[in-house]
Amino acid sequence: MPPRGDDVACIAEEWELNLDKLEYYRFNSPVKVLAKARWLEENLLSVLIALKFETETECARCLKPVTLAISDKLMYLYSLCGLEFSEEEFEARAQAALALDLDNINLDTPVMPVEVEYFDRTLDIAPQVLESILLLLPSKVLCRDDCAGLCPECGADLNEGPCACNLSGNIDPRLSVLKDFKLE
Ligand SMILES: [Zn+2]
Ligand SMILES: [Zn+2]
Repeated sequence: MPPRGDDVACIAEEWELNLDKLEYYRFNSPVKVLAKARWLEENLLSVLIALKFETETECARCLKPVTLAISDKLMYLYSLCGLEFSEEEFEARAQAALALDLDNINLDTPVMPVEVEYFDRTLDIAPQVLESILLLLPSKVLCRDDCAGLCPECGADLNEGPCACNLSGNIDPRLSVLKDFKLE
């Protein structure tokens, strides 16, 4: 942590994080983390977290492995519990914090609040680093925008061409109930 009350000093720390798996994502190489801390006010610390990593998951439609390269930044504002900001007050501080580092970030970088009981000489930002990684992982990944997916009947990969079920003109099983409808 930079010295308390010094709003010019900026402490940067860089490290690599070995994650094996997180939800549906596998990590075959370490996550590169860069954190920069700076006091904005006496009881308000800004921490910029920059992340760079590669991760592997499955296409939501055809289940083929897909590798994503992610590089992004988020900012956290740590304040003392009880120091309650209105939404506008928080927003003003978030913009001020971002404005101090426009070489690195832009005014659209997300800023999230964190409340702490007290400020020690060090700060454990592991929960925020983990949260940042989760926030940067998309909830759904496709191998390509027009992935045709798997046949719901036989499981064939329809990206490789139509399967036997499709060729024989079978109706989608989800629609087959409609086949028996008769109009009086
Ligand atoms: Zn796919
Ligand atoms: Zn099929």
